[in-house]
Amino acid sequence: MFSEIFPNIFAFIPNNGGGNCFLIKGKKEIALVDSSTRDNVGKLIFGFEQIGITPEEVTLIIHTHGHADHFGCDALFSNAKIAMHEKDGKSINAGNEDFACLQFFPETELPKVSFFLRDKQEIDLGGMFLKVIHCPGHTGGSICLLLEPNKVLFSGDCLFVDGFGRADLPSGKGPKLVESLKKLQKTPFKVLFPGHGPVLLGEEKNGMHLKKMIKMATNTFL
Ligand SMILES: [Zn+2]
Ligand SMILES: [Zn+2]
Repeated sequence: MFSEIFPNIFAFIPNNGGGNCFLIKGKKEIALVDSSTRDNVGKLIFGFEQIGITPEEVTLIIHTHGHADHFGCDALFSNAKIAMHEKDGKSINAGNEDFACLQFFPETELPKVSFFLRDKQEIDLGGMFLKVIHCPGHTGGSICLLLEPNKVLFSGDCLFVDGFGRADLPSGKGPKLVESLKKLQKTPFKVLFPGHGPVLLGEEKNGMHLKKMIKMATNTFL
């Protein structure tokens, strides 16, 4: 089920720990940030019915990184272009199943990435845009996305409400993850929409939250 958290910004947060899926309805593009895990496909279809948007209307899927728990339902969106940072996107287009952790997510197909993203790139959705922030650490091509003008940060598996991503999967690097979390301190976000689990609302709380997570990640990885 989707919740409309801000006008035209919807969150699908499965209660089975699978990947979150966010929908942004711009004037130019109907975009998703990740598409959840394959085993949530039924719930996702139901969610689209509830908000009155068909999967065919989605024009763009932007991936926070190339793990199978985030692209599991891509096949549902037959008209969508698929975007990913070039570092992860090249591994996906090369068919690297180990990189994508496909062994943990049976029946998931590798997507075909249509175009690669770079740090600081801006994606125009019509009336709203997403700014790409390269945040390696969980994977080499992990990104966060800042939605303007709402100042929502989509943080993928870099930062969660109750922690941060693991760094022991292919191309993961703990010290890079700490650097990436520090980089997010320079990003003025008000709301956190992570790749798994609940969202975090409230600016004041976010600044403190990020500081706490940097401390925890420093103790874990440095
Ligand atoms: Zn991941
Ligand atoms: Zn994940």
